[in-house]
Amino acid sequence: MQTIFLLSLYIMRCPYCNSTDSRVADSRPDIGDAVIRRRRVCNQCGAKFTTVERIQMRDLVVRKNSGKTEPFDREKLCRSIKLACRNRDVKDEQIERLVASIQRRLETETADDTVTSVQVGQMVADSLLNLDPIAFIRFVSVYKKFSKVADFKKIINQIPEADDDAVVCDLPKTSLF
Ligand SMILES: [Zn+2]
Repeated sequence: MQTIFLLSLYIMRCPYCNSTDSRVADSRPDIGDAVIRRRRVCNQCGAKFTTVERIQMRDLVVRKNSGKTEPFDREKLCRSIKLACRNRDVKDEQIERLVASIQRRLETETADDTVTSVQVGQMVADSLLNLDPIAFIRFVSVYKKFSKVADFKKIINQIPEADDDAVVCDLPKTSLF
């Protein structure tokens, strides 16, 4: 029973017809070999779809300010960054790369699989500052739980050569880590 269950995890099913009979048409490494994308073609219905394999070096654990720990959740991190980048000129692929590079850095910099939410937040903030200053401000405002205009002024003053024409949009509050 368990064997059947395990097998079903490894068999790639076509998302259109559920067939397990598909072939790899193309596969390419991405994000510095951290990700392998495989373009597949279903032999049953001819549909094309892509599978993504990620290399994970460690099972990271994030320690929050409260002292509580939880497993590192790359999808959650991706979502919070996407939210900060909403309607900005940032492609999903850039966000994928950013998250992959942060994850790799966390994996290589920790000795015992544990990282802090401050460490993660700082890495995201640093990366976003290079990518898009508005996304940076949005992310930090949520992460640092900004409650007044003065908080924004303080952080904006720290941005080198801030773009004065850019508009700071409000962002719904979200729990980040
Ligand atoms: Zn199919």
